[in-house]
Amino acid sequence: MSRFLNERYAAMKPYVPGEQPQDKRYVKLNTNESPFPPSPAVLAALNGEEVAKLNLYSDPTAKVLVDAIAARFDRISREGGGKGIKPSQVFVGNGSDEVLAFCFQAFCGKDKGMACPEIGYGFYPVFCEIFGIKFNPVPLREDFSIDIKAFEGIKDNITIANPNAQTGIYIPVSDIKTLLSADKDRLVIIDEAYCDFGGESALGLLDEFDNLIVVQTMSKSRQLAGGRVGFAIASEAIVEDLNKMKFSFNPYNLNRLSILAGAAAISDEEYFEMTTSAVKAERERLKKTLAELGFYVTPSLANFVLAAHPKIGGKELYLALKEKGVLVRFLSDEALKPYVRITVGSKEQNDALTDAIKQIIKEKGI
Ligand SMILES: *Cc1c(COP(=O)(O)O)cnc(C)c1O
Repeated sequence: MSRFLNERYAAMKPYVPGEQPQDKRYVKLNTNESPFPPSPAVLAALNGEEVAKLNLYSDPTAKVLVDAIAARFDRISREGGGKGIKPSQVFVGNGSDEVLAFCFQAFCGKDKGMACPEIGYGFYPVFCEIFGIKFNPVPLREDFSIDIKAFEGIKDNITIANPNAQTGIYIPVSDIKTLLSADKDRLVIIDEAYCDFGGESALGLLDEFDNLIVVQTMSKSRQLAGGRVGFAIASEAIVEDLNKMKFSFNPYNLNRLSILAGAAAISDEEYFEMTTSAVKAERERLKKTLAELGFYVTPSLANFVLAAHPKIGGKELYLALKEKGVLVRFLSDEALKPYVRITVGSKEQNDALTDAIKQIIKEKGI
């Protein structure tokens, strides 16, 4: 630390992202990326002509991207009998991490902390730290499921990843409705990073509630983790507030290529269906194989599973797998120490993982 750092940040512990090793090739199942390449429509959109325009700033309103996102969710809303989604209800950011950061910064304050399930996305407490917001961890049930009653009477805003980060456990939209109606002065942010792998989106509740923000990302289900495209859908007034934050910080938060990539990705429904269905099918196959190998596996609806073996600790398994060229995630939360979090990969990647686990079980005589 230099002697210049503001003392406010001296004790701050930054978020630790999963390893992105540059040294050797691993079967990489540690950061919940998609095993598929981006949609062919994305590759077609990012041609040399577009690269040649990088001397010019990107559109600070990211209109083509906002319009494409709005069009998709407007269609889904209307098909479900809803009122539709307007472009003025869509906010886009440099990954959903940035979108979430703007939400925390904009809507929490001295008397408004952020309540989150005590096991969840590791960035939430970090955002609270950097913005000086009170972080209010809410206990889960023993099986890691979210107990909606535990949020009763809490005045703070609420952020829940649904399905939840690390566990993949999903809460039904009816529970979110309960949270929204219990206190209309409390914002509920639903982080749907993993929703496309089997959960139901809370977006339908926007017609009825203006204290809801739904956040999604193109990193997990749309093959654009490296493109950094995230978005929020909420009331027009909330989106106006978020744009105020963005235009006071970095109006060009999305670069020209990411705007085009995101618009192409969100418009390719067929590729989205194909890739998310494949991941869901592989997830169920992986759960079954791990259970047969003696693991306890959480009932994940995400593109990862959280698994613990009774005879080998999470860190030990993580290290043994790494030695065999397979990267999974070991999470240091006390309650997660017995577990590893495994991204659902392609069939070949998942087979490589389970083969390596079988070898480890044999070598260690467990
Ligand atoms: C991956 C993830 C994010 C961040 O996604 P980016 O769009 O890549 O910033 C946010 N929330 C949860 C729960 C995630 O798992």
